[in-house]
Amino acid sequence: MLNISPIPAFGDNYIWLLCASGSTAGVVVDPGDAGPVLEALEREGLELAAILITHHHSDHTGGIRRLLQHSPEAIVYGPAGEHIPGITQQLHDGDRVRPGELGVEFEVLDVPGHTAGHIAYYGAGHLFCGDTLFSVGCGRLFEGTPEQMSVSLARIAALPGDTLAYCAHEYTLDNIGFAKWVEPDNPDLLAREVEARAQRSRGEPTVPSTLAQELKVNPFLRAHIPGVKQAAEQFSGRTLTSPAEIFGTVRYWKDSRYD
Ligand code: ZN
Ligand code: FE
Repeated sequence: MLNISPIPAFGDNYIWLLCASGSTAGVVVDPGDAGPVLEALEREGLELAAILITHHHSDHTGGIRRLLQHSPEAIVYGPAGEHIPGITQQLHDGDRVRPGELGVEFEVLDVPGHTAGHIAYYGAGHLFCGDTLFSVGCGRLFEGTPEQMSVSLARIAALPGDTLAYCAHEYTLDNIGFAKWVEPDNPDLLAREVEARAQRSRGEPTVPSTLAQELKVNPFLRAHIPGVKQAAEQFSGRTLTSPAEIFGTVRYWKDSRYD
């Protein structure tokens, strides 16, 4: 069995820790900070076997160097399209990797938009999507165009509905606050708010969530929904035709509210 747990870091990052039952080989995704990872490995009795990196931002990569000092043998997987010191296995779209002793093969998906070379890892019903998809939100477009991000999110949305999306940040409640401006009457969104508030008040993460759930509540996956198109058109004051235009407008709308 595959065990997956979040290691909280900084204010709102999650570094995902993976291990197979009965194995002492740990794998972490996007270790922005080494300290909490080393503590978690120690607490769980694990040796670090591999690191998976989704993109170059320091809140996802800042711990690599110190982790390698402790575990020089660890294999560090990351996007071929970005310069990230410490990476030993450069990955391209469609590559398949079997990190550590997880017994899981992950497929690499190119998902540019947040950064130019951002990748995601998909295997055994789990998706590690870094800062591309958040629950009820998506990453900001730092290095990509709305067209690119729109295609990246469509790739993710096309995965099976029961896929669990392990996002790298706890942004859900903030994202819901914005999503309600886009779809104030979406009953699934309002239900998600109640659920997420309860999870946070119990100190639990609101992620992972399933892609089926995200398709019902995430405005960035819902450009095809008439109400989302209408809201985006009302915000921009013009007619929007392509899904990328609608997506880009909703993204710009959120950026202008939350800068
Ligand atoms: Zn980022
Ligand atoms: Fe981040």
